[in-house]
Amino acid sequence: MTKRDYYEILGVSKDSNKEEIKKAYKKLAKQYHPDISKDESSEEKFKEVSEAYAVLSDDEKKQQYDQFGHAGFDQRFSQEDIFRNFDFTDIFGEVFGNSAEGSIFDMFFGGSQRRQKRGSNLSYELEISLEEAAFGTEKKINIQRSETCPKCDGTGAKDNSLINCTECNGSGQVRATRRSPFGVFTQVTTCRDCSGSGKVVETPCPECNHGFIRKDRELSVKIPAGVDNGNQIRVSSEGNSDKGGSGDLYISIFVKQDKRFERDEDDLVTTIPISFAKASFGSEIEVPTLEKDVKLKIPAGTQSHTIFRLRNQGITRLHNYGRGDLLVKVIVDVPKKLTKKQKKLLEDFAKESGEKIKAKRGFF
Ligand SMILES: [Zn+2]
Ligand SMILES: [Zn+2]
Repeated sequence: MTKRDYYEILGVSKDSNKEEIKKAYKKLAKQYHPDISKDESSEEKFKEVSEAYAVLSDDEKKQQYDQFGHAGFDQRFSQEDIFRNFDFTDIFGEVFGNSAEGSIFDMFFGGSQRRQKRGSNLSYELEISLEEAAFGTEKKINIQRSETCPKCDGTGAKDNSLINCTECNGSGQVRATRRSPFGVFTQVTTCRDCSGSGKVVETPCPECNHGFIRKDRELSVKIPAGVDNGNQIRVSSEGNSDKGGSGDLYISIFVKQDKRFERDEDDLVTTIPISFAKASFGSEIEVPTLEKDVKLKIPAGTQSHTIFRLRNQGITRLHNYGRGDLLVKVIVDVPKKLTKKQKKLLEDFAKESGEKIKAKRGFF
C-alpha cells in the first residue's frame, strides 16, 4: 500500500510551523478519535493522522522525512520509532483529558509489555576529511553505553531472586475506573511497581544498577559518500539499553576544512593564481583534484576570475548518481614587487598600449 504524504494527511503545507501542524492535528484527532467518532474507518484514520503528526512534530523525524520521503524514512524508522518520545499526554491532555493516553498507546502497540522504557539515544560527533566525505569511509568509534548485566540477565536480581509483585498479584496489570468528558472508562493499565512483568526483585544484583551496567564499546560505522557538515547518521539500537530495548546512536558529521578546496554542495572550488604573462599567452597549469594533480590548459587572454569546470571531479552525490564538478577559478596575480628591469618593461608595455604611466622611483 502506498502511504499518503504526511503533509497531505494533516492538510498543511511544507512550511507550516509547529503551532499550525499541532492545530491541524488536534482538529483531525477530535474528528477521528474512536471514542467519539461513529465512523467505522475512524480508527484507521486516527492512526494515520497520529502517525503524520508524530513525525512532523518532531524536528529530527521531520527533517529525515523531508530529506528522504516515505521510502527512505520507512527504512530508517519503525512504527515504534515513530511514536517513541511522542508525548500523547501533552496533546490529549488538552483535547480529551489524561484518561485517553493509555488506550491510545494500546491501540498502536497492543500489549502493555511494550510500554516498558526503551534506552535513551546516544550522540557522537565525528570529524572526517573532505576526501572521506567525498568517497565515503568506514570509521571505528568508541562509545560508552548501558548494556544488560550479564550476571543477572538484566533482571537486577541477585541469584534470580524474583518474587511476585504484591501490587498486581503477579499479573502485571491493574484496573482503574476513570471519568472523562466522554463517559466512564474502565481501564487496564500496566502495574507501576513491576512495570508489567508481575515480578519484583527481592535481593538486588551487586554487579549492576537495576539490571544494567556501563560498558565501553568499539563500533565500526559506515559513512556514506557525499555526507556534509551537520548530517546525522542513525545507527539503530546502538544507544543505551533499558528494559524496553536499546536506543539509537546518532552520529553528527563534521567535515574538516581543506586548504585546497571549498565545497559548494556537490561541487568543489579551487583557486589558482597565475601570472599576467601566463594569462596573456595561455598556458598549462597544475590543478589539484581529490585524487591527484592534473594539467589544465588555459587559453591565451584568460581574464582574472575565469572559472573552468572539470566534470565529475567533485563530491559523490549522496542522493543521486554521479559526482559534482570541480570549478577551477583562475586569479591573475599582480606582482607586489618589481625589479628595475621589470619596471622598465612595464613602462614600455604601457606606452605601447597608449597609456601615459611612469613607475615611481626610490620610494618603495
Ligand atoms: Zn546484574
Ligand atoms: Zn505489579
